[in-house]
Amino acid sequence: MKKEGDRDSGLGIRENKDNPSPESRTPNPEPRTPNPEPRTPMLEPNRQGEVWVFAEQEDGALHDVALELCGKARELADRLGVSTGAVLPGAGVGEMAKKLFAYGIDNVYLVDHPRLSHYQTLPYARALETLIGKHRPQIVIVGATAIGRDLAPRVASTLRAGLTADCTALDISDVTDPKTSVEHKNLLLQIRPAFGGNIIATIVNFDQWPQMATVREGVMPLKSPTNNRTGKVVEEKVEIDDTAMALKLIQRHVEKRKVNLKGARVIVAGGGGIGSRDNFKLIYDLAGAIGGAVGASRAAIDGGLIDKDHQVGQTGTTVRPALYIAVGISGAIQHRAGMEESAKIIAINTDRDAPIFSVAHYGIVGDYKQIIPMMIKAIKEKK
Ligand SMILES: Cc1cc2nc3c(=O)[nH]c(=O)nc-3n(C[C@H](O)[C@H](O)[C@H](O)COP(=O)(O)OP(=O)(O)OC[C@H]3O[C@@H](n4cnc5c(N)ncnc54)[C@H](O)[C@@H]3O)c2cc1C
Repeated sequence: MKKEGDRDSGLGIRENKDNPSPESRTPNPEPRTPNPEPRTPMLEPNRQGEVWVFAEQEDGALHDVALELCGKARELADRLGVSTGAVLPGAGVGEMAKKLFAYGIDNVYLVDHPRLSHYQTLPYARALETLIGKHRPQIVIVGATAIGRDLAPRVASTLRAGLTADCTALDISDVTDPKTSVEHKNLLLQIRPAFGGNIIATIVNFDQWPQMATVREGVMPLKSPTNNRTGKVVEEKVEIDDTAMALKLIQRHVEKRKVNLKGARVIVAGGGGIGSRDNFKLIYDLAGAIGGAVGASRAAIDGGLIDKDHQVGQTGTTVRPALYIAVGISGAIQHRAGMEESAKIIAINTDRDAPIFSVAHYGIVGDYKQIIPMMIKAIKEKK
């Protein structure tokens, strides 16, 4: 907002006196004290380095996304001809190594320390940074959970590595730098939607290694475990002194998940076309009749038709059920990103040109208020 006393630059741009441009600021007479802690030097690219996963665990269980990433790490490592590794920080978590082996990990780097019994940013970051510095993996992938989103950027920033958040695909390829024409062999392609989902960007990292990425839960398929597969447990000692314990954990309160979209075999999802909270009852009725969970588009959430826990899509949950019924959902790219891998998709929409029909296996053009009662009747008659 224009304020009295603001300076006119002569170009129609006014300068705010409270926040002057750098040129017009008076020089600081006191030279700045240099940061006493020197920055960690960047790690050299290590082409023999392993492909690592952060093995996120809580309360004695490995997070699903960690197991999904083990399968992806295995695939990437096989293409690079290197081993896979998983960093497993925690207290009394050694038993979990077996599960990581079964899902494709060769070496589990176990950091067992009482100070790691519950996730805290600094001690967990210290464990990961120390091990990455010591073993120099070429790729580190982390689940984009609340914990992963807190941990990965901190570790990447300390190591001065690159990090791509929320990747939807990871691949390996040679890449030629268009500026220098230098060809870089076997880089990690970090693929994710950008600019609100309007483009799919492929991000590569030539030199600020390790190549780090986070991936959301449900994006990579969970591979079947090989239960007799074994690997090596490498017990690591990491110093976690008082400086890493700045935060004192006084109490933990864990809220149970109310909606389990990830585990549902059938999902009936309603969108903005449902119109009202009362009308959503029809979506619940259909889900009840076929034993499914209730999902929703963001328009339904934003319109107050249903709670956020039900959101499917780029900023909601990614699902791959056996059957997904999209009702009154247009099929915007951000919604499709979260459901198009479903085994069978049925779409109900009044608009025959709605983009949801491009991913649907069966499309019904019509008003859901007429179609859903007919579906429920037919299901009940069949029972
Ligand atoms: C960064 C970003 C992230 C996003 N993340 C997500 C996300 O995670 N998930 C998500 O869903 N969206 C997300 N969006 C929003 C997305 O772009 C769309 O706005 C949203 O998906 C639209 O929801 P909708 O199709 O239900 O609603 P609308 O666009 O309002 O479409 C309603 C549809 O219902 C149909 N319809 C109307 N009446 C009836 C009727 N009686 N019977 C049958 N059909 C009817 C209409 O023909 C129309 O196709 C995101 C957007 C951005 C920018």
